[in-house]
Amino acid sequence: MLNQIKGLHHVTSMAGSAVQNNSFFTDTLGLRRVKKTVNFDAPDVYHLYYGDEVGTPGSVMTYFPFPHIARGRPGTGEVGTTVFSVPQDTLSYWSDRLCKAGVEGLKADEAFGEKRLHFAGPDGDGFALVEVKDDPRAAWTGNGVGADAAIRGFHSASLRLRDEGATGELLSFMGYDKVDEKDGVIRFGMPGGNGADFIDVETMPNISNARLGAGSVHHIAFAVENRAKQLEVRKALMDTGYQVTPVIDRDYFWAIYFRTPGGVLFEIATNEPGFDRDEDTAHLGEALKLPTQHEHLRKALEENLEPIA
Ligand code: ZN
Repeated sequence: MLNQIKGLHHVTSMAGSAVQNNSFFTDTLGLRRVKKTVNFDAPDVYHLYYGDEVGTPGSVMTYFPFPHIARGRPGTGEVGTTVFSVPQDTLSYWSDRLCKAGVEGLKADEAFGEKRLHFAGPDGDGFALVEVKDDPRAAWTGNGVGADAAIRGFHSASLRLRDEGATGELLSFMGYDKVDEKDGVIRFGMPGGNGADFIDVETMPNISNARLGAGSVHHIAFAVENRAKQLEVRKALMDTGYQVTPVIDRDYFWAIYFRTPGGVLFEIATNEPGFDRDEDTAHLGEALKLPTQHEHLRKALEENLEPIA
């Protein structure tokens, strides 16, 4: 069993409008945009990153907004709900705030003894807030949500699978413990994790595969401290029979990817070097940052990308 993985690193999803996406995560959810860059493989679209003040691993929601993309179709083989941690007794504040902002899909429930508020992102994305007592992670308060209520980072993500078996074994191999099970959902927890510690596996044997589109999660990334630990994980996964990509430089972290038995794309990402490698912390996310190989496209990209605040 591995011991290098420390919880979630980031979750990357697809969106329609960049403007709407940016406004939702900054104005409505109060996160900080920590990077405005472009997709490495499709530089004519943005890659937007939102998180806490510095984009601490475990807090980072990222998006590829494709202006004319169709909505995804929810199903199995994908991340279902991405869940953020908020302080205790704040769900009524959040319910009011999201309702006033016209957010759809608001629904309160309770799972594994925690109070939860579900809501939909601008493209129907599945999100929830969960009340966590004494989450020690610092909140970003620069976008109008006070420290008493602001999001602390991820709490968990759920995987929708046709059957749990092989993915459950993989999560155990990655260092997760099976910590609870209720109503067909198995909760895995990362001991000694970064706060974004839970994966909930939902088994849906009769549901067809998801179709990727706006509002779908593209992949989910798990955090390792550094490149040495990442190489250890890569070797262990390959020795177990997984096909893992080579290490890819994503400018703000190094990444490896592999497809899981249930169809979800997993990434292992390093905590180094971080989002302040090319911008001061005070100005994170303000300027358009381009990967070196796309820098020659800057003029055209600046003219063609939809401006966001
Ligand atoms: Zn990623």
